[in-house]
Amino acid sequence: MREINHFIDGKSFTGKTGRFGDIFNPNTGEVQARVQFADESELSRAVEGAKKGQRVWAAMNPQRRARVLMTYKTLVEAEMDELAHLLSTEHGKVIADSKGDIIRGLEVIEFACGVPHLMKGEYTESAGPGIDVYSMRQPLGVVAGISPFNFPAMIPMWFMGMALATGNAMVLKPSEKDPSVPVRLAELWMEAGLPEGVLQIVHGDKQAVDALLTHEDVKAVSFVGSSAIAHYIARTCTEQGKRFQAMGGAKNHGIIMPDADMDQVVNDFLGAAYGSAGERCMALPVAVPVGKDTANEFVSRMKDEAQKLRIGVSTDPDAHYGPVVTAAHKQRVEDYITLGVEEGADMLLDGRGFKLQGHENGFFIGPTLFDNVKPGMKTYEEEIFGPVLQVVRAGNLEEAAHLPSDHQYGNGVAIFTRNGLAAREFAAKVQVGMVGINVPIPVPVAYHSFGGWKRSAFTDTNQYGTEGIRFFTKIKTVTQRWPSGDIGDQAFVIPTMG
Ligand code: NAD
Repeated sequence: MREINHFIDGKSFTGKTGRFGDIFNPNTGEVQARVQFADESELSRAVEGAKKGQRVWAAMNPQRRARVLMTYKTLVEAEMDELAHLLSTEHGKVIADSKGDIIRGLEVIEFACGVPHLMKGEYTESAGPGIDVYSMRQPLGVVAGISPFNFPAMIPMWFMGMALATGNAMVLKPSEKDPSVPVRLAELWMEAGLPEGVLQIVHGDKQAVDALLTHEDVKAVSFVGSSAIAHYIARTCTEQGKRFQAMGGAKNHGIIMPDADMDQVVNDFLGAAYGSAGERCMALPVAVPVGKDTANEFVSRMKDEAQKLRIGVSTDPDAHYGPVVTAAHKQRVEDYITLGVEEGADMLLDGRGFKLQGHENGFFIGPTLFDNVKPGMKTYEEEIFGPVLQVVRAGNLEEAAHLPSDHQYGNGVAIFTRNGLAAREFAAKVQVGMVGINVPIPVPVAYHSFGGWKRSAFTDTNQYGTEGIRFFTKIKTVTQRWPSGDIGDQAFVIPTMG
């Protein structure tokens, strides 16, 4: 059986704990590899190596660090097909989607190549008599990244791009469900010229995460995953006095106004609700058509079109979406579908029990569609994270807009309309962090930044963009005066500049 090792000090590192996690091929249901789980001592070893690497790396000027990032981008691009294949066969998303996962990560690397400019400080000449003030951004030291299963390339690259460019070393704890791509990405960093120890990959479960959260030399933690764990990370880092950003789960709504282009809306929902088997934190699992006619047309067309979706193995170029990641996740999604029926929503398509011919043990779920879902139902209030679209009907825009604003999650939201004023007012008022206007999955480009509100993010800084630079650096402000012979007589009072 293939074994996935840690990656410490520039090379593969075989753990000794005897603890492992199974890696499935979601297309077949078989265990295809096992990944080592670290304990506290292995984690400490990675942190020690990272401390040494960080000193070397931070001493390189930012332009030289940027050149390593540029080379890295070229190397990842050259290996795009192999990486996408590896990603598809561990995660279950189709190849085109796997490439999107890698490309969106590379966009952050590309942005981070501008680090010489992005890290520039500020300067005030003559802030007082003969006194100048300047500030600089310095790296934090060793930082941690903890990533979820659903974007095994993009999210590690969000972390790596920003943390490494700014001169930190990172210990990355990738998802234990699909860890092979992060390991390969680390190997490519070495080929690009990253000094040993600057990027360490340590696999594991809660034990490894807790060791990271409580290690005194880990100065900051960037986390992406479910809300319960994000909240735990936030609480623990607060207790430990560490800087953190912890992104959580989502339940994104798409509001459909009567004047929307229904062809575009149906097409967008097909991709955003069912693409990647619904395992995206920016998926659109809730549709809110406004008015009875809009709702009837949307529901009838979605039902027709969703039935035509091709579900296939993740490497099939004709498949629209593949299996979900594990048998346990398939069971969880199917339990939510059963609950939806029990709660009284109208089931129009039932994806439970879907079998793909020749791959009967794969973790496939058919497209599922519920109408007349109501706030208060558990299946509406909670994140399902599967190919399940729920329709909540609204009488007018005001009623529709309350739904995402009042929901516990506030990651993304979309409105489909031709009315610019309505869209503008909606975008200004809605209590959600990322808004799409006729854009179903409004993941911000790399030079803006990513972050939800409410239980979708426990943080003051978003991921990547200039927010990422702020998160991974600390400001030092220097006030300087050079001796001129004029000593003055103010030595015993608080200095003022006047
Ligand atoms: P998860 O919370 O189960 O796991 C995320 C990370 O936390 C993994 O590395 C995992 O090993 C670790 N972990 C799991 N249980 C832990 C515990 N008890 N203590 C400490 N660490 C633990 O999330 P997942 O299932 O891998 O990913 C899906 C979730 O991530 C969904 O909720 C999705 O919405 C969310 N997500 C959010 C964003 C965002 O930016 N807001 C992006 C992608 C995914």
